[in-house]
Amino acid sequence: MIVMRPLSIRARLILLVLAVLLPATGLAAWSVFADSHNARDAALVGLAAFLVGLALAYRIASSIVKPIRALARISTKVANGDLGARARIAGPTELELVALQFNHMLEVREQAQEALRASEERLRGIVHMASEAIVVVDEELHVVLFNPKAEEIFGCTAVDVLGQGIERFVPAPLLGLLRQHLPEFASGTASAIRMGDHDEMRVLRATGEEFPLEMSLTRITLGGKPLYSAVMNDVSARRRTEARLDKLANYDTVTSLPNRAMFRQRLQRALVHAQRFNEDLAVLFIDLDRFKNINDAVGHDAGDRVLQAMAERIKGKLREVDTLACLGGDEFALLLEKLGDARMVGNVARKLLTAIAEPLMLQGQEYHLTASIGISTFPADGSEASMLFAGADIAMRRAKDKGMNNAQFYSTAMNTHSLARLSLETGLRHALEREEFLLHFQPKVDIASGRISGMEALVRWMRPGSGMVSPGEFIPLAEETGLIVPIGAWVLKTACERNRAWQRQGMVPLRVAVNLSARQFGLANLVSDVARVLDASGLAPKWLELEITESMVMDNPEQAIKTLRQLKSMGIALAIDDFGTGYSSLGYLKRFPIDFIKIDRAFIKDIPASSDDATITRTIIDMTHNLRLRVVAEGVETQEQLDFLREHGCDEMQGFFFSRPLAEDAFVKLVHNRENQALNAA
Ligand code: C2E
Ligand code: MG
Ligand code: MG
Repeated sequence: MIVMRPLSIRARLILLVLAVLLPATGLAAWSVFADSHNARDAALVGLAAFLVGLALAYRIASSIVKPIRALARISTKVANGDLGARARIAGPTELELVALQFNHMLEVREQAQEALRASEERLRGIVHMASEAIVVVDEELHVVLFNPKAEEIFGCTAVDVLGQGIERFVPAPLLGLLRQHLPEFASGTASAIRMGDHDEMRVLRATGEEFPLEMSLTRITLGGKPLYSAVMNDVSARRRTEARLDKLANYDTVTSLPNRAMFRQRLQRALVHAQRFNEDLAVLFIDLDRFKNINDAVGHDAGDRVLQAMAERIKGKLREVDTLACLGGDEFALLLEKLGDARMVGNVARKLLTAIAEPLMLQGQEYHLTASIGISTFPADGSEASMLFAGADIAMRRAKDKGMNNAQFYSTAMNTHSLARLSLETGLRHALEREEFLLHFQPKVDIASGRISGMEALVRWMRPGSGMVSPGEFIPLAEETGLIVPIGAWVLKTACERNRAWQRQGMVPLRVAVNLSARQFGLANLVSDVARVLDASGLAPKWLELEITESMVMDNPEQAIKTLRQLKSMGIALAIDDFGTGYSSLGYLKRFPIDFIKIDRAFIKDIPASSDDATITRTIIDMTHNLRLRVVAEGVETQEQLDFLREHGCDEMQGFFFSRPLAEDAFVKLVHNRENQALNAA
């Protein structure tokens, strides 16, 4: 195939000139020869040639001009925005080349614009999808961009805020700060601004609610205009989580008071302050007495409510600057700072004891609580938190030992006491295996007949190097350490075995009374343990009596009634020991299946001289008889006491007047002598 290349402009121009010149020349030649021949014909031919030349010239000229016009039209179209327009030119080579280049240029431009559009699209997508709020403002702080995340956290749509100022979101002081910092951006001296601590500030939602926001501000330039782009995060959820974690780590879950960790921190800070300013401070340990019994009786939920109420009550008695903490369970710690006078602490402690002891009414239930308080002070008792902690703790335990419901100061003397206590505890731990315990027996006497009606087994500790230690000294410690359980079991077993052995030896049968401690009484398997001991020793249940105290039964009456009924049904006798020192509710005692009431020797001591004690003793005797129980007077030391008791119908007595507690042999001898006397008398 022959490809005809289109003519170039130059060739066309040559043709154009030729197209005009040749007919003109022909015409001129013809006119020269016209006279000689046929002039008219010559003119016609010349004219025809001229016309053909002219037509040809026109044709050639327009073949140049047309594509140029077409190009101009296309350019106008492109200029008007029709980027899809393309030049299609079949004309001179040069113009075709121009058209080709023009089209190419348009394509390149279209591609560039496409890329730009895609990139803008991506950018818009990023801003749109950003997990952070992005707000762009101009120099007047008018909103230029507000992305969906910003809509979400501020609670309004972009349409509402575009072109508006940011005053509605930013509290006035902060707005002032922002305006103040803008010039730094404008001048380029600051590249990013961070507001306050942790770049965090408090701003407002559309609803007016304030919330914490983390923000980083950057200056950008768009179309030569300075703008400010803020990337923001709503950190309220994070702050809430942090607050929750802080609460868990530093506060007690039941009372919401600071916990041990937080108390320690505050104490350490307070100590630094007190040292610098020469001030006194005090640490008080406040332990509710026998709180476990409340939990056991009413359950942990109600127990928690009691603790909350107590925490509130204690707090109500304190100054704003004092720190009350809950160390867990029923143990509170109190930090008293800026003490003008260290003696003030005693007053505070007394005030707290009184407040705690007031009856507490909760959901129709009345609670009676007391507390034991231990106090250590700075600088007297130490300069470190741990020393003050330990001091207050030791003092608190001392308060417990002293019968609870009181406050004790820690002092060097107390420290010595606690060392002695430590050694006592160590000795006590080995006393059982080393067989250092023994029993003494004290007779009970029937007042009317004068005959021995029974005996009480009283434990003694023969401590190597210390001699005989009285139970008053070691029983409370044994209670506290739990050692009372094995010790109590040994007493019960030994008392039953001795009694049975004496019966076998022919001694007149007597009932042996054994004291039960609170812990023993609370043991789940107490009844079966007692049954097993009786069985093993061969002692009939009617020759055993168990002594319990009022507080033991009153702490959890329902459980106590159950246990006592089971013991009673086995044939065991039951006595309430030390009556008058606890709740003294005889009416209440009606519900318990008991046989004896033992009037505490505190009331017997001063009769008949003390008319108060005489009245109390008489009343107890009368009421006990009304309940058809027998009454025993403890600690009878004189004839006058005995006369008074006999006169008022007391059934039995126990005391030094008749006999001190005696070792086994002495006791057996006493019983024999008495029996012989009785026989002789008869
Ligand atoms: P308690 O059960 O009230 O025992 C009576 C206490 O009064 C005994 O003191 C006894 O020696 C003392 N006493 C008896 N007559 C008189 C008197 O006329 N005047 C005076 N001033 N005191 C008299 P003891 O043996 O020192 O026991 C003290 C307490 O220790 C007992 O009081 C009892 O609560 C407890 N205890 C003793 N042995 C045991 C035991 O084996 N187990 C338990 N859990 N506690 C025991
Ligand atoms: Mg007793
Ligand atoms: Mg007693």
